[in-house]
Formats: sequence, structure tokens, C-alpha cells
Amino acid sequence: MDAKHDVLVVGAGCAGMRAAIAAHDAGADVAMISKLHPTRSHSGAAEGGINAALGNTGEDNPEIHAFDTVKGSDYLGDQDSIEIFTREAPGDIYQLEHWGAIFTRNEEGKLAQRPFGAAGSPRTVFAADITGHVLIQVLYEQVVKRDIKVYEEYFAWRLVENDGRCQGVISWDLMDGGLKVVGGKTVILATGGAGRLYRATTNAYACTGDGMALALRLGLPLKDMEFMQFHPTTMYPSGILITEGCRGEGGVLRNATGERFMVRYAPTAKDLASRDVVSRSEQTEIDEGRGVNGSVLLDLTHLGAEKILDRLPGSRELAMVYAGVDPIFEPIPVRPGAHYHMGGVETDSDGLTELTGLYAAGEVACVSVHGANRLGGNSLMETITFGRRAGTAAAEWALANTTVEVPDAVERDAERELKELLGRTSGERPWKIRDELGSSMLDNFGVFREEGKMARQIEIIAGLRERYPGVYVEDKGTVFNSDLTQAIELGYMLDLAATMLQAGIARKESRGAHSRPHDFPTRDDENFLKHSISRWVNGGPELSYKEVRMTRWEPEERKY
Ligand SMILES: Cc1cc2nc3c(=O)[nH]c(=O)nc-3n(C[C@H](O)[C@H](O)[C@H](O)COP(=O)(O)OP(=O)(O)OC[C@H]3O[C@@H](n4cnc5c(N)ncnc54)[C@H](O)[C@@H]3O)c2cc1C
Repeated sequence: MDAKHDVLVVGAGCAGMRAAIAAHDAGADVAMISKLHPTRSHSGAAEGGINAALGNTGEDNPEIHAFDTVKGSDYLGDQDSIEIFTREAPGDIYQLEHWGAIFTRNEEGKLAQRPFGAAGSPRTVFAADITGHVLIQVLYEQVVKRDIKVYEEYFAWRLVENDGRCQGVISWDLMDGGLKVVGGKTVILATGGAGRLYRATTNAYACTGDGMALALRLGLPLKDMEFMQFHPTTMYPSGILITEGCRGEGGVLRNATGERFMVRYAPTAKDLASRDVVSRSEQTEIDEGRGVNGSVLLDLTHLGAEKILDRLPGSRELAMVYAGVDPIFEPIPVRPGAHYHMGGVETDSDGLTELTGLYAAGEVACVSVHGANRLGGNSLMETITFGRRAGTAAAEWALANTTVEVPDAVERDAERELKELLGRTSGERPWKIRDELGSSMLDNFGVFREEGKMARQIEIIAGLRERYPGVYVEDKGTVFNSDLTQAIELGYMLDLAATMLQAGIARKESRGAHSRPHDFPTRDDENFLKHSISRWVNGGPELSYKEVRMTRWEPEERKY
């Protein structure tokens, strides 16, 4: 073992850093492992804001926030987790503010709050449209202040299970090469999402679902894997996100004839209906021939230059650089793109997984506050609130237990496997399989789903998985060998895709982001008000179900 700590956090985005800070403050010796420098984590790309019921702009309270989240989840969210979440969110926002987060303020000098999709009240706290960037800098300052050890540019490759609990992580050292074994009395997964399973996505190249796959390989349950959120406003053709904050500030969606079409689909909430509803409406407009080059148009021109420059400067810059349009004068071409994975490693409300000593928080986890559809602004909040809770719980357990042991055999196995992968002298290049996976997932498991396409996608994934053992890593070097890490990430994504399709084809209803308009167009609470649970058994995914935890909201028809 190269080093050991009380608490080892894998991932250094908002969830990982918030967890590390909480664990440190609870008295533990903490370290983080990250395949990227912390400030390059994908949380930094978050734009529009973070939800907490502060009530600074209209009436709001945690109960209203909880109801909006339950309804937004299409009643699949666990209501006890949601209640904890909305109750603790305001305190977490004030903590971030006290640490120096420069949130935008309203005329009274209070934290400003903008409307976001499916929110009963303007609830989204923001720093212009660079909220994630601000949060990641503030959290990193707190990490540095506490002198928390960061194993930067370490690629986590294996979780160590020993004596019935998780006791560390085996990583590939990206900068210097070689395997590094770091022990932890407790380990927290905070590795983010898996948007890269799709060709068109808002997610960075690093979002390959590593933590979910690591947990799956240990036999742990993943929950609700079929639910991938498609964000309605990703720019054509790059797929880069244009924040929901644009619609929060008054932007509207138009089709080729200039019609504000959301009025037809969601007469009350219109352009600010929940994301699943808006994405489906856009896709219907495009499929029925009222799109523009496979897109619809996000119109901000009526907001005026002053508001756009003050509230949405980052979005304007993205539109100018990546779509060649200045939104002060012209609408931005947008379409739905894969954005956020509601599914993930199953945890309790303290982030604990089924395995003693292993916790998860942030997008890698499914606690589950988002159910079948996440509300915009709830994810950043989840990283902070449940990151903090997981960090505290992991520290408490670690401080009450003393030993860390990584058996030599585990290290030797990892070395042997790596040698075998690097030792291959010919074969298929990983990117070919990765491209086929991304395109076919978009074609067959996108905004709308149907039995035949899902069955076809299951075959495609099986074929890709058969080809995977023959992939060839051309670069045999030890320094920043991204050829090697991309080959490993591909293996993770193929396993995750298999769980997603198995859960998707078995869910014979339409709920949240899982929409089957042709064969099962409505929600079926009698048979499917339940979580999908995926495990890896005998080399493949195995599906079972689990009850949704309800506290006080009975399922109702969902209208916006
Ligand atoms: C463009 C965009 C805009 C968004 N805007 C908003 C918004 O306005 N509001 C909102 O609520 N949500 C938003 N979201 C969603 C939200 O930003 C993310 O869900 C959230 O930030 C994820 O944080 P995280 O800490 O879980 O993961 P990340 O920030 O993705 O961090 C993952 C960490 O894990 C590390 N890692 C991954 N795999 C490994 C490995 N194998 N070994 C070592 N380290 C590893 C990475 O290096 C990184 O440090 C947005 C998402 C996107 C893509």
C-alpha cells in the first residue's frame, strides 16, 4: 500500500470536495483522488444555478420545494430523502455564501433567485450564468485552506473490498505511470455522471460513469439506470449547454414558423415546464417537420442587450463562439441532448451504499431525490447537501474503526490485468466501439423509446461487449496515457449501457425521462411505481425492483 487515510474520496467535483471538507471538519484525515485537477471537474461547467427555498423572491419554503421535486420526479423520488434535501439546502447555501460564493443579489441586497423549470416559485440561486465555476473555486479554496491531500491525476481503477468492507482504491498514476494503492477506512465515490454514453451530450469527455461501474463490479446495486435526462437546450451542432436560466430570464422556444410552441404543450408553465416535457415537445416539433436543421430556436432577442449582458453573459459568449449567433440579435438553434443521469449507485440518505465503508454522493449516486426526472438546479444542491452528509457519516465511521488492509493478492491481480491489457499487440481501437456506442444509444435509447429499438440496442451492446476484450492500446507509455484510460472507460460505459437497456425495456410505461409514446404512453403506478435495481451477476446485468419510499405525497396526474 502506497498510503492510507481515514476517508478517501474518489472525485473532486462539487460533491467530492464538499464531502472531503465535511470529513475533515469532523476530525478525519482525508484525501481525494481525481483523474482531473479538482477545478477542471465537470461541476465547473454548471451554469444556471442551485435550488434552495430561501423565499427571497416570492413565497417559498422547503415543503413547496419538496412537492415540486416529488412531482418533477414523476413520483419516483424517495420522499424521505427529498424532505431532508429541501430542509437542509438553505443552510448549505448560506455556508457557501459565507465561504465566499459571489452569488448574484436582488435590489434588496438579498441573494437573487431566478425561476427554473417546474418550480412553484423563483428558487434558483445563481452567480450570473457561471454558478458551477464559482462553486468549484470556492470549494477548492476550502480544500487548500484545510491542506487536504489531493492525489491529482490519479485514475481510480479498482475498489478494494476486503473483509466485507471497502478499504481503498487502486489507481493508475496518470502523470508518472504505475499503479498506486491508497487505503481508506472509508471510501466515498463522487465520480460524477455518464453523459458520454451518448454521442450528443452536454457532458465533458471525463463523464464516463466510472464510479457506477466500479460499484457494479463489486456486486453493488445501481438504481433507476434507465433514466437519462435530455436537456432541451443544447446548442446545435456542438451539443454545448445553453442554461435553463435563459428561459428563467424570459427566453422562449420557437419553431420554424416562429410559433411559441410550448404554449400548446404546457399551457401554464409553457417554456418553463419540466425538462422531460420540454424535450419531448421539441422533439415532436422536429419530428413533425417544424424544426430548423434538426433544431428549434431559443429566442432571447426580446430580453434586450442590458439583461443578456448582465444575467447571461456566458451563454451569449457560448452562442457566439460555438453557433456563430449573437443572441441579442438572433435566436440560438437548440435541441435535446443527453445531460444528467438520474440513476446511480444506490445509497441511503447519508450516502452509505450496501457495502460497509463505501459511500457515494453527487451524480454518481442515486439517493434518490430526482426519481424519473431531475429539476434544473437540484443537482448542484444535491452535490452539496448529500456530499456534506456523506463526508460527515464516512468520517464518523472511520474514526470509530481502526484498520486498513489491502491484501497483496488484490494488488497482484490488478497488476496482472493491466499488464495483459497493455501487452496486446494488435486488435481493435477503442474509439471505434466508443463511437458506435454513443451513436446507437442516441438513436435507440434517446428522448423517445420503443420496444423494437431497445431490443436492437441490447443486441448492439452485446456485440460491442463481445468485441471489447479485443481492444488494443497502441500507446504503451507511462505518462498521460489517455489511450489506456479511454480503453478502461469504454469497458465501464459498456457495462452501464447494458444495465440501462435492461431496465428500460422492462419498464413498460412512460414516466419522467423514460417515454414510450407508441406502446406504453402513460404512467402505470399499479405496476411500475418502483425503482429498478441493477446488479452484475455472472457477467451480465440482473434486474429487480424496490419500493419507492413515500412520506406524504400520493401520486397525481402530472400537468404543467
Ligand atoms: C453543462 C452542464 C451544466 C449544468 N448546469 C447545472 C446547473 O446550473 N444547476 C444544477 O443543479 N446542475 C447543473 N448541471 C448538473 C451538475 O452540474 C452535475 O450533476 C454536478 O455538478 C455533478 O457533480 P459531481 O461532483 O457529482 O461530479 P463532477 O463535477 O463531474 O466531478 C466528478 C469528479 O470525479 C473524478 N473522477 C471521475 N472518474 C474518476 C476516476 N476513474 N478516477 C478518479 N477520479 C475520477 C473527476 O476527475 C471529477 O473530479 C449541469 C451539468 C452540465 C453538464
